[in-house]
Amino acid sequence: MNKPAQKAKNLLNFIVLVSFFGFFLSFEKHALSAEAKTLTVYSARNEQLIKPVFDAYEKETGVKIRYLTDKAPALMQKLMSEGKRSKADILLTVDAGNLWQASQNDLLQPIKSEILDAAIPSHLRDPNGLWFGLSLRARTIAYSTKRVKPEQLSSYEALGDKLWHKRLCLRTSKKVYNQSLVAMLISQYGEKKTKSIVSSWVNNLAAPVFANDTAVLEAIEAGRCDLGVVNSYYYARLLQKTPDLTVALFWPNKAEGGTHVNVSGAGVLKHAPHPKLAQQFLEWLASSKAQALFAEVNQEFPVNPSVASSAAIVKDWGKFDQAPFNLNGAGRYQTQAIKLMDNAGYR
Ligand code: FE
Repeated sequence: MNKPAQKAKNLLNFIVLVSFFGFFLSFEKHALSAEAKTLTVYSARNEQLIKPVFDAYEKETGVKIRYLTDKAPALMQKLMSEGKRSKADILLTVDAGNLWQASQNDLLQPIKSEILDAAIPSHLRDPNGLWFGLSLRARTIAYSTKRVKPEQLSSYEALGDKLWHKRLCLRTSKKVYNQSLVAMLISQYGEKKTKSIVSSWVNNLAAPVFANDTAVLEAIEAGRCDLGVVNSYYYARLLQKTPDLTVALFWPNKAEGGTHVNVSGAGVLKHAPHPKLAQQFLEWLASSKAQALFAEVNQEFPVNPSVASSAAIVKDWGKFDQAPFNLNGAGRYQTQAIKLMDNAGYR
């Protein structure tokens, strides 16, 4: 081989080597950024309610979402045992009572975000940014349209009136939804008055307490009782299955500030490997587009007041007043509410 040919061969070898390294490096970098662009969510919401939302985010941003679903207490237990080793970035769950519990267990980190603060009304998020409400549900009165006139209804407290003796159905007091409702009443009326309200409910029960809200609605439909208290989306689900349902919703406490609302929501975990990315995801969830989708999958209301409900049934219900109760109180009064219900004989 002559000298110029040898030189050309050396140069070619060099180029091949450099480009191989370049390819290798870019592959490595790509793999790393793909890893950095994966968020892990522990969710107490069912897969069918979160999957469409996660898919939309992934499509829009390229960020992959890995998730694990279980009941809220089990997820919190898992997070506590994982400690600093946890790969989870976000805890997603229902009811402010559960979100507060997560904050009490020191599982969440405070997030400061002007975007979240602007999109989510202050009574639907933690004052220290530990958790944020993302969809809204009303815990409201359901009644038989055959046996109750809406004019006869007014407030949660009035469910204890003589008129409703042996006509009321309630879900178990063990459910956090009822603990949060009673927590609101304690914050509003104090312990003594709330205990007499809860006792008057127990006195009016037509049947032993039910395991879930759907069973309460079905008992009203079947004529076992005439009215009860349920979350709005359970009613929407049953109405979809049974269009000729003779049960309707009533928005109580107009004169007392409004209907009790609660949220499903999320917080960034204390040991989140990707806290910035987790915050960006929450900010996206509070945006108009995601709000409509996130609420619609479970026939809830968006928390962001500038976004209209997109689920047809929910739209039919029209507007109602939300009690201005700061949902942090659902946690603060939770222990008191549990004790009070027990003392009032509410099982
Ligand atoms: Fe529920």
